[in-house]
Amino acid sequence: MTVIHTLGFPRMGANRELKFALERHWRGEISADALEAVGSELRARHWQVQREAGLDFVTVGDFAWYDHVANHIQLLGCEPVRFGFDDTQTPLARYFTLARGVAREDGISGEGKPALEMTKWFDTNYHYLVPEFTAQTSFSLADERLFAEVAQAQALGHPVKAVLLGPLSFLWLGKEKTAGLDRLSLLDKLLPVYGQILARLKAQGVQWVQMDEPILGLDLPAQWRQAFEPAYATLATSKATLLLATYFSPLQENLGMACRLPVQGLHIDGIRAPGEIATVADWLPAHKVLSLGIIDGRNIWRSDLDAALQTLRPLHEARGENLWLAPSCSLLHVPFSLAGESRLDEELRSWMAFAVEKLSELRVLKQALAGDVAADSALAASRAAIQSRRDSQRVNNPAVAQRLAALPADADRRRSPFAARQAAQRKRFALPLLPTTTIGSFPQTPEIRAARAAFRRNALSAADYEAAMQKEIAHAVAKQESLGIDVLVHGEAERNDMVEYFGEQLAGFCFTGNGWVQSYGSRCVKPPIVFGDVSRPQPMTVAWSRYAQSLSKKPVKGMLTGPITILQWSFVRDDQPRAITAKQIALAIRDEVCDLEKAGIGIIQIDEPAIREGLPLRREVWRDYLAWATFAFRLSACGVADDTQIHTHMCYSEFNDILPEIAAMDADVITIETSRSDMELLHAFGAFQYPNEIGPGVYDIHSPRVPSVEEIERLLKKALETIPVGNLWVNPDCGLKTRGWPETEAALRNMVAAAQALRKTVA
Ligand code: GLN
Ligand code: ZN
Repeated sequence: MTVIHTLGFPRMGANRELKFALERHWRGEISADALEAVGSELRARHWQVQREAGLDFVTVGDFAWYDHVANHIQLLGCEPVRFGFDDTQTPLARYFTLARGVAREDGISGEGKPALEMTKWFDTNYHYLVPEFTAQTSFSLADERLFAEVAQAQALGHPVKAVLLGPLSFLWLGKEKTAGLDRLSLLDKLLPVYGQILARLKAQGVQWVQMDEPILGLDLPAQWRQAFEPAYATLATSKATLLLATYFSPLQENLGMACRLPVQGLHIDGIRAPGEIATVADWLPAHKVLSLGIIDGRNIWRSDLDAALQTLRPLHEARGENLWLAPSCSLLHVPFSLAGESRLDEELRSWMAFAVEKLSELRVLKQALAGDVAADSALAASRAAIQSRRDSQRVNNPAVAQRLAALPADADRRRSPFAARQAAQRKRFALPLLPTTTIGSFPQTPEIRAARAAFRRNALSAADYEAAMQKEIAHAVAKQESLGIDVLVHGEAERNDMVEYFGEQLAGFCFTGNGWVQSYGSRCVKPPIVFGDVSRPQPMTVAWSRYAQSLSKKPVKGMLTGPITILQWSFVRDDQPRAITAKQIALAIRDEVCDLEKAGIGIIQIDEPAIREGLPLRREVWRDYLAWATFAFRLSACGVADDTQIHTHMCYSEFNDILPEIAAMDADVITIETSRSDMELLHAFGAFQYPNEIGPGVYDIHSPRVPSVEEIERLLKKALETIPVGNLWVNPDCGLKTRGWPETEAALRNMVAAAQALRKTVA
C-alpha cells in the first residue's frame, strides 16, 4: 500500500490554543507546567488527526513553542553566548529569551538583550528566528525535547517519522556575527551532533527521519552545493533511514545530486516543480522512496484528484510501495480545518481544503491507487466541487477579462515623463524644500479599536461609527496642522489591516472566520482569499479622504494598498497565473485612484511594502516577476493627470538588487525605511541616480524612543550627500499605528524642527 504522510502540521491548534496559552504564560498567568500540558495535548490531538486520516506515520518534531528553527538552536546547543545563559534558567525560559529578548528595565537604558533577529522563511509569510554564528560557536546535543516528543507519540501507539531541519539548511539560514567567518566552515563541527541525534532517534525506534533541506531549491554557491555529498555520506554512517525533503522550489541543477545522495528517500514539491516529477522518477534509483508532494501545501484550494491520479498512476505502477504521497510542503502554511468555519458560505467552502481536509485528500488518493471503491464517492464529490468552481459565475466575471484584454498600450504610462510632472506638481502644491509627511497611519488607540469592533458586531450604528471615525480623522488632521507637517494623512483609523480593509470591499475576495496561519511566535494572520475575478463595486476610501481634505488647506494624501501587496498577503487563485490576478487587483485600485483624483485629492499614496518579498526563490524568474509586478503597480497608478502626485511606500527591504525595477514603478515620490541602517540604503539609490523624489525614513517607528532634532538633522545631511535637495522628503520609516500619541507627537515635532533648521542652511 502507498505510504501517505505530511512534512508537518499546523501547531497552533484548531482554535489557536497554543497562541492563547503562550500569551497567558508570558503575562505570568499560567506556569510553565500548565503551558507544557497545553503543548502536549495539542501534539497528541494533532497526531490523532493524522492517524484518523489514515496517515502511515505521525510527524514528530514539527511542534514548536515559537519556531522550529529556534528549536534547532537549542537542540544543537548553539544558543548565542551574548545571552549569558547559565544553569539557573530552564530550557523553556531560555527559549523564550532567544525568541523575545529581555526588555530593558526602563525601556531606555539598562541591561536589555535584543531577541534573535527574525526573518521570512523562504517565500512564505512565516518568520523564523535567525541562528547566530561566531568563530566561537560550538555545537552539542543539548536538548531533550525532540526525544521526549518522540516518546510521547510512541506511548500513544503511533508509528513515528521524526523531522529535522538538515545541517546545511540550518547553517544557510543563520547569520555570521564574526567578521570574516564563513558559516559553512562550521559544518564539520555540526555534523557529529546530527550524527548523535540520528543515533538517539534510531535507538528510540524511530523508523524514518525526514531531513528538510529546502535550500536545495535555491541558487546556491558552489561550495554549498558541493558540501551536500560529503555531509550526507557522514550522516549515512549513523544508519538512520533518511527521507531528504525539499520544497517550495524546483531543484534544477541540484536535482541530480539530490537523487544520488546516500539517503533512503527524496521528497519533492510536485506543485512548485511539476516539471521535475518525470525526471526524478527517472533518476531516483528504484530502491529509494520517492515522496511526491502532490497536494498544494501553500494554498487552500481543493485538489483536482483526477489530475493528481493521472500523474500518480504511472509512478505507482513503476515504483509500487516506493512511491509515497504527501502535501507539497509542511501544512504549517495553511489554516487548520474547514470544520466550524463560520464566515464562508457552503459553496465557497466546498471549493477549499485546509490542513485537515488535505490529509483526507491524501487518503482518497491512496485508496484510489489501491483500486479501493471506497475512494469513488470522495472522488465524485471532489470532481463536482472542481467543476462547480470552474463554471461558477461568482468566479468568472467576463467584464473583468474584457477590460484587461482591451487595455490601451499606454495604460501603464503617465501622460508625461517625470520632469514635466514634477514641474506641474511643484506649481500646484508649492511645498517647501524638504517637505515633511508621514506614512499613513496614526496611533490605533483602544477607543478606535473598540469602535471598530462594536461596529462589526452591530453594537454601533453606521452613523455613530462614521462620526467616531470622523472625530479621529479630525484629531489627526488638527495634530498634524499644529505640528506644522506639510503633507497630511487622514490616519487610517477605519482600517483594521491594510489588506483586509480593501479585500472586504472588492468583488472576488472572501474571508474566513477562523482561517488563521502562524506568522511568527504566537502571532497569526487570517489572509483574505481571492477566489474570483476582482473588481471594485464602489469607492472604498473616497468619503474618508474627502472628509479629511475638507478640514485642511494643506494637501491630505489619499492612502491605498498596492496590488502586489494585496496579492502577496492573500491566498490567491490557482486557476490562473498570479500575474493576471495582480492586474485585476491593479485595475480595481486604479478605479479608486481615479475617483480620489476626481474628489480633489491631489496626492495619492499606493503602499507596496511586499513587493520585494514577492520575489521568486530562483533568480532566473526574478525578471519575469518584476516585469508584471511593476506593470501592475503602474497600471494602478497611471490613470491620473500630471499634477496629481503618486507616492509609494516600502519597508524592511533590501532594494539594491532591484533598483531599476523600483525606478520603473515611476512613482513621483517613494518613502522607504532607512533609519535603522543609518541611511546605508541610500547609497544604492544615489549610485543608481534614482530619478524621482524620495523620502528616506528619518526615525525608527518600531521603538517608543523619541529621536532628537540633531539626530534627524544628521541623518538628513547624510541623505543629502546622495539625494539632490529638491528631491528629498522628510518622514518616519513607516506607519505609526503601533505607537502612542505622546511619543508620536514628540518625534514628529523634532522631525519638523530638523527639516525647518536644514531648510535655512541649504536654501
Ligand atoms: N500606510 C500604511 C501605514 O502607515 C503602511 C504600512 C506598511 O508599510 N506596512 O500603516
Ligand atoms: Zn512601512
